[in-house]
Amino acid sequence: MSQLYHSLDDLKFDNSFVNTLPADPIEDNYCRQVSNASFSNVRPKLSSAPKLISFSAEMAEALNLHESVCSTKTFTEVFSGNKVLSEMHPCATVYGGHQFGNWAGQLGDGRAINLGEVLTIDNTRWTLQLKGAGPTPYSRTADGLAVLRSSIREYLCSEAMYHLGIPTTRALSICLTGEEVERDMFYDGNPKKELGAVVCRVAPSFTRFGHFQLPAAMQNYDLLRKLIDYTIRFDFPEMDLPVDSANQFSNESILEWFQEVCKRTAMMVVEWMRVGFVHGVMNTDNMSILGLTIDYGPYGWLENYDPDWTPNTTDANGRRYRYGNQPQVALWNLVQLANALYPLIKESSPLENALKSYQETYDRYNQSMLASKLGLKEFSPKTDGKLAEDLFQLLGKVETDMTIFFRKLALVQKTQNFLDEETAYKILLPAYYKPNENTNQYKSDLNIWLKSYNRRLQDERSSADERQRAMDQVNPNYVFRNYLAQLAIDEASTGNFQPVNDLLSVLKKPYASDENNHEYAHKRPEWARHRPGCSMLSCSS
Ligand code: AMP
Ligand code: MG
Repeated sequence: MSQLYHSLDDLKFDNSFVNTLPADPIEDNYCRQVSNASFSNVRPKLSSAPKLISFSAEMAEALNLHESVCSTKTFTEVFSGNKVLSEMHPCATVYGGHQFGNWAGQLGDGRAINLGEVLTIDNTRWTLQLKGAGPTPYSRTADGLAVLRSSIREYLCSEAMYHLGIPTTRALSICLTGEEVERDMFYDGNPKKELGAVVCRVAPSFTRFGHFQLPAAMQNYDLLRKLIDYTIRFDFPEMDLPVDSANQFSNESILEWFQEVCKRTAMMVVEWMRVGFVHGVMNTDNMSILGLTIDYGPYGWLENYDPDWTPNTTDANGRRYRYGNQPQVALWNLVQLANALYPLIKESSPLENALKSYQETYDRYNQSMLASKLGLKEFSPKTDGKLAEDLFQLLGKVETDMTIFFRKLALVQKTQNFLDEETAYKILLPAYYKPNENTNQYKSDLNIWLKSYNRRLQDERSSADERQRAMDQVNPNYVFRNYLAQLAIDEASTGNFQPVNDLLSVLKKPYASDENNHEYAHKRPEWARHRPGCSMLSCSS
């Protein structure tokens, strides 16, 4: 184990973003349009009675912090926004974005404040960011605050995704502020007071597609170029792209970098599809340039497999951000990023070529993901595309819990032979929401599929045990089910934070099967089918 610090004062900061990019010269904190700058200096709002609810021990360790530091008063003070360490340099960054397909102009960190960039002992860069720590010049008409329910959802889901092995921003801590925040949760004219909270998010950087779109839209190409040069240098150092004598990257390098962004975005979306994650608000301001899942708002997890499902009530009509549309929307967002780079590249064909790498990467990575979900060592194009397609057709025919189905499918084989029809069905039974409605036709279709799957498995050299072990490493047992989030939120609202911490510890081992935690692997109970917060979420947070 690497060396661990016993005090927050031991952290080393290297605030490259604010040291490299131009600052908004205005220091006062009021809402405004900001041009010619990448960020505004701003201080977090003081909270009257901050209280730590939970911290991520793994994230603390990644920052070289000894766990004992997280129980100190200073830790709560710093990560609720009440204390700024001397080496920190708090700021809010400015970006634009396309929201639901329309250009929205300047957005920016309306309730996020970067505290600074930690450089760890092994030279890893982590930006610390408070979400919900008060207004910034980019808060527009809103208050810069966040409520407990959305903060719990962001905190737990970030860490759940990380432990699932999916590229994501992380979370270090969640604190109550002691203040109340007014929210009209259902947008029906009934605002209520809720508990305010602050999450400390952590990522190498929080740069979004929208950061590049805004200077391009304002025709500020000098600022655009500065931001690109900065990003390639600090966020993509491993690409090791050469700079010219003016310390700038050539068009070829910018294109190479853009291609890398396309590839990373493709891989991130394939990972979402693997576990049934639906982001819910894939606006271009919610797309990380690093290919990380970012901004956990009205996201959700597929319960019954349904490619048309969206968790976001604001998206209920168009369903732009439905599960099955995520690969297309990611590409649409990349096209917007390409448009932002065009003024520097000045030719469309190389950008279009780079965009092709999105589809190529998606297809290749998706194929190996599907093969691994089915316990196949390699994707065989002749048979496996159809095999997977037929299975997803079946899963959509009757209400089938995707997570449970794949976990159970791993058990439907004994030595080299498939179990008989009836035994196989019994094993799969827990995955069905309405098993009594499964018709004979459905059962026969399922059986036909199982037979072709069995035939395919005969080409493999793995034993039933090996196959199960391999499948259990890609098909999670515990995902952050929508109703589990809601149960933890209900308890937290009454002052009981144990369920938040219990969930965190279960979600740290999503591929395990632990008898003591079996209830976390259950399918959605009937009461949660239509309950707000479980089935549908609004953007109010
Ligand atoms: P989102 O839909 O959460 O990605 O937010 C879109 C934009 O609205 C971003 O610029 C956010 O910073 C801003 N925003 C969302 N909620 C608030 C809030 N309560 N106060 C200030 N700005 C907010
Ligand atoms: Mg956002």
